[in-house]
Amino acid sequence: MKTSQIRETFLKFFESKGHTIVHSSPVVPGNDPTLLFTNAGMNQFKDVFLGFDKRPYTRATTAQKCIRAGGKHNDLDNVGYTARHHTFFEMLGNFSFGDYFKRDAIKNAWELLTQHFHLPPEKLWVTVYAEDDEAYDIWNKEVGIPAERIVRIGDNKGARYMSDNFWMMGDTGPCGPCSEIFYDHGEEVQGGPPGSPDEDGDRYIEIWNLVFMQFNRDESGVMHKLPKPSVDTGMGLERIAAVLQHVHSNYDIDLFKNLLAAARKAVEEAGATDVDPDSPSLKVIADHIRACTFSVADGILPGNEGRAYVLRRICRRAIRHGYKLGARKPFFAGLVDAVVAEMGEAYPEIKNPKIKTILAKEEERFAQTLSQGMQMLEEAIAENKNGVLDGQVAFKLHDTYGFPVDLTADVCRERNLTVDMDGFDAAMQEQRDKARASAKFKMAAGLDYNGADTTFTGYTETEHQGSKV
Ligand code: ATP
Ligand code: MG
Ligand code: MG
Ligand code: MG
Repeated sequence: MKTSQIRETFLKFFESKGHTIVHSSPVVPGNDPTLLFTNAGMNQFKDVFLGFDKRPYTRATTAQKCIRAGGKHNDLDNVGYTARHHTFFEMLGNFSFGDYFKRDAIKNAWELLTQHFHLPPEKLWVTVYAEDDEAYDIWNKEVGIPAERIVRIGDNKGARYMSDNFWMMGDTGPCGPCSEIFYDHGEEVQGGPPGSPDEDGDRYIEIWNLVFMQFNRDESGVMHKLPKPSVDTGMGLERIAAVLQHVHSNYDIDLFKNLLAAARKAVEEAGATDVDPDSPSLKVIADHIRACTFSVADGILPGNEGRAYVLRRICRRAIRHGYKLGARKPFFAGLVDAVVAEMGEAYPEIKNPKIKTILAKEEERFAQTLSQGMQMLEEAIAENKNGVLDGQVAFKLHDTYGFPVDLTADVCRERNLTVDMDGFDAAMQEQRDKARASAKFKMAAGLDYNGADTTFTGYTETEHQGSKV
């Protein structure tokens, strides 16, 4: 089944169960300052869950464009390292707004997976929130999953596990215990079952999260009951596609195969030779071009603050990976065409020709400093003795060569080095203080106070904040 058919099958299945098919919302959340990017299908329904907004339906289903590259859910550093994380991905979801609850959520999910997607039940594992006997019993007694493949996740295993089965959109907002479905990709892949010490491998992959929305968490962490218990589910389209296409990695599905081939061709045309088709850098590029294409399509421009800076960072990271492979000419912006070829039908907004122009400008801008910056970084790495890159160097790269500090850290990580972030922060602070002092001096001296200076100060300040989101 092709990725586009899987998306269609999911939506049609839930439509047949009384759900209204609702369009994806943009990757920029509408009117929600608590979120940097849309990170889940439920975001656009937040106010419906909270009872502030009413819709003409109580059941909905979506394929939602998501970005997890900043804020509470941030997978930027996983990309290229795991088989299952993207910065941009599509989340398939079904929602009940005070309509059905746990039983139907679980039974529908099981029916879709085993009867429509024909997954062998013995390959599926589930987790439940430790105290959720109700969900446990539905899986065990009604669906018939044996106890060996149901894992209770909660307090007894420590905070990390607890939080894994209690889903929160962000620090505030709708939340609740959840039950997750995992697929066993087989013993030839590394990794342990959910809840085990080596669960972070790629063998048992989380495909679907069923969240039993019951609370609204406020700023002080207090949980208030929602008007009605509700359901919010999310299944990564690329992950279920990997399962259904009998491949282990998201990067081996139809859609990504084509993007990876296009990325390889583009870097080779830009000067790279003998590019390994399995190179993590190609995966990063294929992943990041989707995030960039969709971000610009939804109105974000590369810049120095907030989500604009996240976009710049994603863009520059990808360009640096191309450089690493040997590209010495622009290659990145042209890949928008490959994304459009794969996804333009489902998401016509990416057919906008401005996207390529905007990304090409950003690529051109970074090209002016990339090779010099890389040379400086290479020298610092070669001279390094303690495994920690000097914060001053990271700051100079940031300030003079436009290297976001996470890009520098990405290069360092490839060489088993870390970045001295305290040193970086101190250098940043020092520059800020200097800029302030000089502005004060100019004002006191009655000199013409030109706007360029304030812009400059703002640039470093916000750029730094952006790099931390
Ligand atoms: P993981 O533990 O693998 O990081 P998660 O628990 O953070 O996933 P959820 O917040 O539960 O993910 O999101 C619901 C579903 O969305 C997941 O079950 C998965 O299928 C998919 N998903 C989550 N993050 C990503 C990502 N970065 N790339 C691709 N798919 C993702
Ligand atoms: Mg995650
Ligand atoms: Mg998880
Ligand atoms: Mg999850």
